[in-house]
Amino acid sequence: MGSLQLTSIRKSFGTHEVLKGIDLDVKDGEFVIFVGPSGCGKSTLLRVIAGLEDATAGSVRIDGAEVVNTPPAKRGIAMVFQTYALYPHLTVKDNMGLGLKQAGEAKAVIEERVAKASTMLSLDEYLGRRPAELSGGQRQRVAIGRAIVREPKLFLFDEPLSNLDAALRVHMRLEIAALHRRLKATMIYVTHDQVEAMTLADKIVVLNAGAIEQIGSPMELYNRPANLFVAGFLGSPQ
Ligand code: ADP
Ligand code: MG
Repeated sequence: MGSLQLTSIRKSFGTHEVLKGIDLDVKDGEFVIFVGPSGCGKSTLLRVIAGLEDATAGSVRIDGAEVVNTPPAKRGIAMVFQTYALYPHLTVKDNMGLGLKQAGEAKAVIEERVAKASTMLSLDEYLGRRPAELSGGQRQRVAIGRAIVREPKLFLFDEPLSNLDAALRVHMRLEIAALHRRLKATMIYVTHDQVEAMTLADKIVVLNAGAIEQIGSPMELYNRPANLFVAGFLGSPQ
C-alpha cells in the first residue's frame, strides 16, 4: 500500500509562493517522475510530502489518511537525497541500520533487513567500510539501502544520480528500475535527466514555477505535449 493524494498544496517562504496549488493522484506501486527547471519547487514538494516542510495550505493523504499533522518518521516514507547524506563516522552497516535503531526496532530485525538490502544492492563486501572509503555509486547504494530497510510505503528520490558520472548513472538507473519491479513500492523521483524520466516513469509530472503544466505517461507527453514549455522540456519535435 502506498497511494498518495495531494490536494491544492501551497507553500510560501515569506512572501514568495513556491508551490501554487498542486493536485496529484499517485496510485499504489506507481513510478512518478517530477521534472521542471531549477527552482520550480520540485524539492520543496518532496519535502512537503515527506513532512520535512509544512505546507501553507492543502492536504496530503497517504492511503487515504490525512498526514499533514503526522511527523516524518510516522508517514511510512523514506527519502534519498542527491548528496547521499550519510554519516561519515559510521560504517555502511550502521548507516543503513541507524533509522531502524532510532525507531526502536529489535537488533535481530535490523540485522536481517540490512543483510537483505545489502545483498540486493551488492554491498555485502563493503559493510565494514566508512563512506569516505566508497565510490560515489557505492555511497548512493548505501543511501538507497538505508531507505529500503525501513520498508516504506513510499520512496522519494531527489535527483539521486546527478552527482554520478554518465556511465554509472545508466547502471544505477537500471538498478532503480529493477528495485521498483522487485519491491512493487510507490516511487516519486525528481530528475533533470530526460532519459531517466522517459525510461523510468509510469507517469511524468511537468512542473513550472510552482504549478503543474502537464501530467501524463512518457509517450503522452512526448507525442501530445500540452504546450511549448512541455515540448521544450522533454525534447519532442514540435
Ligand atoms: P527545485 O528543487 O525545483 O530546484 P526548490 O524546491 O529547491 O526547487 O526551490 C524552489 C524555490 O523555493 C526556490 O526559489 C528556492 O530558493 C526557494 N526555497 C526553497 N527552500 C527555501 C527555504 N527554506 N527558504 C526560503 N526559500 C526557499
Ligand atoms: Mg531540487
